[in-house]
Amino acid sequence: MAANRLWQALGRWPWVVLVTVMLGASGPILLAEGKPAAGTTLGGRVIVVDPGHGGVDGGAYHNSAAEKDIVLGVSLELGRLLTQAGARVIYTREGDYDLSGLGPDAGLRERLLADLKRRAGIGNGPGVDVFLSVHANEFPSPYWHGSQVFYNARGHPDSRRLALRIQQELVRIAGYTEREINEQVEVYLMEQVRVPIVTVELGFMSNPDELRRLRDRDYQRRLAWAVFVGTAKYFAEGPFQQR
Ligand SMILES: [Zn+2]
Repeated sequence: MAANRLWQALGRWPWVVLVTVMLGASGPILLAEGKPAAGTTLGGRVIVVDPGHGGVDGGAYHNSAAEKDIVLGVSLELGRLLTQAGARVIYTREGDYDLSGLGPDAGLRERLLADLKRRAGIGNGPGVDVFLSVHANEFPSPYWHGSQVFYNARGHPDSRRLALRIQQELVRIAGYTEREINEQVEVYLMEQVRVPIVTVELGFMSNPDELRRLRDRDYQRRLAWAVFVGTAKYFAEGPFQQR
């Protein structure tokens, strides 16, 4: 993480954010008693990183690419950045499996519901500050493209601000979207998780150019970096609202 890249990414944001992110990322401070540095933007924050789908549930498929693989790649990179900055990251999954805990005889529907319940349970676990759910989109037309962040207006009042900060960085850093945040209703996790939660739709797998990007490691890193910076800015703002 070169300083000039950090500077570039943070742009005109107050330099105090830059300093706090860098402090959080520096080894000695993180290593002290194994705890993140107090007072850093992300230090001590508990962040759930939720790569959508997994195992028998591949999510969207397009030209032999599976959503579950793309979102896992970006999520692991995102988690790495957050951890470096002092946050405590809880992944809902770190490999290609589902969370249902059910045997191979279980039906898909039963499996999916059990999986989502486990994810929601993780989100509502002790001390969790925010929940970042990572997905990729698909649409019948190949025309649509661009990352987009969703929130639920009925959920935690800070969800919208979290979505906004991440969307702004996706526009600025990932550079392949002009989309704006939108509401997402009647999605199980968005309804059940009580802390600020967003769904980051990384892009449209149905758009050939975007699918090529989504499968590219460098572009995946840029997406992760954008979500990371947006989340850091969200925490830098405070104070936070209660649900
Ligand atoms: Zn999905």
